[in-house]
Amino acid sequence: MKIDIPKLKQIVGEGNVRDNIADLYVYASDASVHSKLPDVVVRPSSTKEVQEVVRYANKNKIPVVARGAGSGMSGQTVPLSGGIILDMKKMDKIIDIRSQDLLCKVQPGVINDELNRVLKSYGFFFPPTPSSGRICTIGGMIGTNASGNRSVKYGATRDAVLGMKVVLANGDLVTLGSNTKVDSSGYQLARLIVGSEGTLGIVVEATLRISPVPKYRAMGVANFATLRDAGNMISETIASGVTPSMLELMDNVAITAVNNAQNLGLPDVAAIVIFECNGMVKEAVDYEINQIKEISKSNHGTGIKVTDDPDEMVRIYNGRKKLFPSLSKYAEGLYTTALADDMAVPMSKIADTVQKIHEIAKKNNVVMSAYGHCGAGLIHTKILMDTTKKAQWQGAKRAVKEVYEYVQSMGGTTSGEHGIGFSKGQSFKEEKQDSLAMMKAIKKALDPNNILNPNKLMDSPDDWLTATPLRYQVSA
Ligand SMILES: Cc1cc2nc3c(=O)[nH]c(=O)nc-3n(C[C@H](O)[C@H](O)[C@H](O)COP(=O)(O)OP(=O)(O)OC[C@H]3O[C@@H](n4cnc5c(N)ncnc54)[C@H](O)[C@@H]3O)c2cc1C
Repeated sequence: MKIDIPKLKQIVGEGNVRDNIADLYVYASDASVHSKLPDVVVRPSSTKEVQEVVRYANKNKIPVVARGAGSGMSGQTVPLSGGIILDMKKMDKIIDIRSQDLLCKVQPGVINDELNRVLKSYGFFFPPTPSSGRICTIGGMIGTNASGNRSVKYGATRDAVLGMKVVLANGDLVTLGSNTKVDSSGYQLARLIVGSEGTLGIVVEATLRISPVPKYRAMGVANFATLRDAGNMISETIASGVTPSMLELMDNVAITAVNNAQNLGLPDVAAIVIFECNGMVKEAVDYEINQIKEISKSNHGTGIKVTDDPDEMVRIYNGRKKLFPSLSKYAEGLYTTALADDMAVPMSKIADTVQKIHEIAKKNNVVMSAYGHCGAGLIHTKILMDTTKKAQWQGAKRAVKEVYEYVQSMGGTTSGEHGIGFSKGQSFKEEKQDSLAMMKAIKKALDPNNILNPNKLMDSPDDWLTATPLRYQVSA
């Protein structure tokens, strides 16, 4: 593929086009296990520049992969077919905050936590709260339909996007959605773009729904001797009609890892569940917290603690918050990999699924943790293994396949919040067999030359392990 570098420099400026090997290497991987060099990195500063770059790429059939912070866990920004990485981080302006209309307008490169820092002075916040909020961009959150620990109450990014401006594959700019909470006007195209992982268009502006910061919150924690009791406590809480703002599970692998990494002294039990309620009225929040406490007790929860002290809440949540980087401390020589990492199952199947995950891991000689936003039915796992050993990768591959087969048999879905990229392509294609043709038709209509993040989602390769080199050194 011959890319006209001087032409790209003419569009975005000399300093915003990078094609030296050191820069390309930085953009070759994300938080997934994969790695593949792009041909060039382009950093646009305006919608007009995005349009011109995309128009040029379309004319010459060059792949374009939009990228925010590159924190995606499934290879979404790994340029499987090479081409242009469109780094959107320079488009980072908060354009407007209209608190009376409960909305704000932002460019896609705005960082989630930075937006919340600014919104706080207005008494508002943007509800999706990914643990990667310190780095991830609004464009990337839209790309993956990200959510987080508060999704149990507030939903995912899709629920918080009202509208957007999008550059299509031919370079045209379209405005989708509206500025209103309700919108019944035809096809919901803004919602279609959310979760499309950069395959249908490049988001250059987003209109986001914001919420008032609750005045009061309280948190609790309960220990469980069995995963079944923890799972039952979670499903009963949700079915009881109380609306926790957080309901998080950590299994014994997760507990051991954070204890090893941070010396937190969490109890050595099968599972702990952390719960939080928030709202404008203290009595209402206290009522809900006490309801959850009672449900924990009736499911054999022990060591139950409840607090509204801000420092104590930070302490309770600290282990969960720092879990991902702690996982590699679970045991000497085992490293964490983002594989089979965020399936969702119907609420009543959480306990069964977590137990099955451990069985599958053991059978394939790897370790899997299970934790996550279980109040929303979402289970995070990571595979812990000796990443230098080829046999471990083969075991991981078998484990991934078996986990997804089980999740599907339970009526669950491949990804609850991290998206598909191509790490999860095979399971996604099996799960969505009935709608694959429809997805392909939409892609073909909007991107006939297949330039926007090709070979992802329904077009993924079947074998994630051989699709690109791994970003790990594998010796034997
Ligand atoms: C430690 C850690 C914790 C995490 N915790 C969570 C969590 O709690 N919840 C959660 O949901 N995710 C989580 N993630 C995953 C990831 O952070 C989210 O998916 C995040 O939203 C990605 O944002 P990003 O800016 O890094 O996007 P990228 O990874 O750069 O891109 C993600 C996708 O969006 C597309 N994209 C980016 N910008 C645009 C644009 N302007 N227009 C069109 N498409 C675009 C890309 O092409 C790609 O397909 C976590 C990741 C890590 C590493």
